[in-house]
Amino acid sequence: MKLILIFSALFGAALCLETFVGHQVLRIKIKNEEQVRKLQFLETLEHLKLDFWRDPTKPGHPSDLRVPFPSLQAVKIFLESHGIPYSIMIKDVQALVDHEQMQMLRHRRRLQPLSTDAFDYSSYHNLDEIYAFIDLLVAENPNLVSKLEIGRSTENRPLYVLKFSKGGTNRPAIWIDTGIHSREWVTQASGVWFAKKIVQDQEKDEGLASILDQMDIFLEIVTNPDGFVFTHTTNRMWRKTRSKRSGSLCVGVDPNRNWDAGFGGSGASSNPCSETYHGPYANSEPEVEAIVNFVKNHGNIKAFISIHSYSQLLLYPYGYTTTPVPDVEELHQVAKEAVAALSSLHGTKYTYGSIISTIYQASGGTIDWTYNQGIKYSFTFELRDTGRYGFLLPASQIVPTAQETWLALKVIMRHALEHPY
Ligand SMILES: [Zn+2]
Repeated sequence: MKLILIFSALFGAALCLETFVGHQVLRIKIKNEEQVRKLQFLETLEHLKLDFWRDPTKPGHPSDLRVPFPSLQAVKIFLESHGIPYSIMIKDVQALVDHEQMQMLRHRRRLQPLSTDAFDYSSYHNLDEIYAFIDLLVAENPNLVSKLEIGRSTENRPLYVLKFSKGGTNRPAIWIDTGIHSREWVTQASGVWFAKKIVQDQEKDEGLASILDQMDIFLEIVTNPDGFVFTHTTNRMWRKTRSKRSGSLCVGVDPNRNWDAGFGGSGASSNPCSETYHGPYANSEPEVEAIVNFVKNHGNIKAFISIHSYSQLLLYPYGYTTTPVPDVEELHQVAKEAVAALSSLHGTKYTYGSIISTIYQASGGTIDWTYNQGIKYSFTFELRDTGRYGFLLPASQIVPTAQETWLALKVIMRHALEHPY
C-alpha cells in the first residue's frame, strides 16, 4: 500500500507539474462587513498566491480559501489578528490530489471500453477518454444521438455538443453544459452520466420520453476543453480558459464573467491575473462565443442549464443586478420543486434563489445573458459538496451526485415542456 502511494505521488508529480504539498483550504466564518472588506483586501495581495474556492461575500456566508504552504503562517496571523474565525477544511491539498490520481490510475489499468456499457462512470476521465465516450455513444445510438462541433477552443480543440433528438426540425430545445470551469471535475463526470442516462431511459422513463417526443436536448460536456486538459496535465486547480493577452503574463479568462450581460460590472475583475477576470470584451473567449452563436442561430431554446460545482445551490438570474427578473416567482417555484426532487434521493441539501441574493453579485454570467435572450428557464447548479472536499470531490460521489442532479434536471425540463412560451 505504501509503495503504491509513493508510486502514485511520483507519477502524479510527473503528470502535474504544479503540486499542492502542504497547501490548506481554510473555512473562514465571516461575522461582519468589516471582515468581508479585510478578506477582499487579502485577495489583492498577489504575492500570497491565494485561491478563493468560495469568495468572501457577506456576513453569515463562509468563504473557502486555498493557501499555499509558504503563505500559511502570514494568512493565519492576518486572520487571527483581525479576529476572523477559521477552521482547517483540507489539511493537505496534495494528499487529496494524490488520492484522486491513484483512483484514476487504477481505472486506466483496465482496457479501454469498447462500449458505453463498459465505461467506468464512477471514475474521473481525461479529455481523450470523454471524447472517445462521446463517439461510442453516437455510434451505438445513431437514431437518437449526434455530435455537433460548434466551434474551436483557443488551443484549437473541437467544442463538441451532443444532440439528443427523435426528429423534426428546430424543435424547442433544452441546453445543458458542464465543465465551463475546468477544475469542477464532478460536473464533466456528471455530464457523461447524463448522456448515458438519456439513452438508457429514453423509452422506459415516461417523463423523459414525453420530453423527447417534443423537444431536443443539447449537452456540452467539456465546455472548456483547454482548461480541462490543463487540469489533467499541469495544474489541477485551473478554473479559467487558456487564452493569452499581450501585455500580461497571466493566462485565461473566467468564462462565467465573459458574457454580454452587465459585462465588466461588479463581481468581475479587470485584472488578467484574477480568477474572475472578465476578459478584454464580451464573448472574447471562443468557448463562450461558440455557445452565443449556437443559441442565436438555433433560436428555439426554452431551457438553459449551466452546471458548476461546488456549494449545493440551484440559482436563477440575475447575478449582475438586484432587479428581480420578471419571472422570479415562477423560477423560484421551479427551483423549489427541482431541489425537492434532488434531495429526495440521498437527502442532499440545496439552497436556491437568484444568484445575487443567494451568493453574490457576479456580472457577465452565462444565465443572465441567456435569460436576456428570452430563455425563461435559465438555471445554474453548483453541485456537491459544501466544502469538505470542494473541487476534489472523491470519485465515489460522482454517480450519486449525477443521479440526484438528474432528478432536478427532469423537473426543469418537464416544466419547460408543460409551459410552452
Ligand atoms: Zn464554476
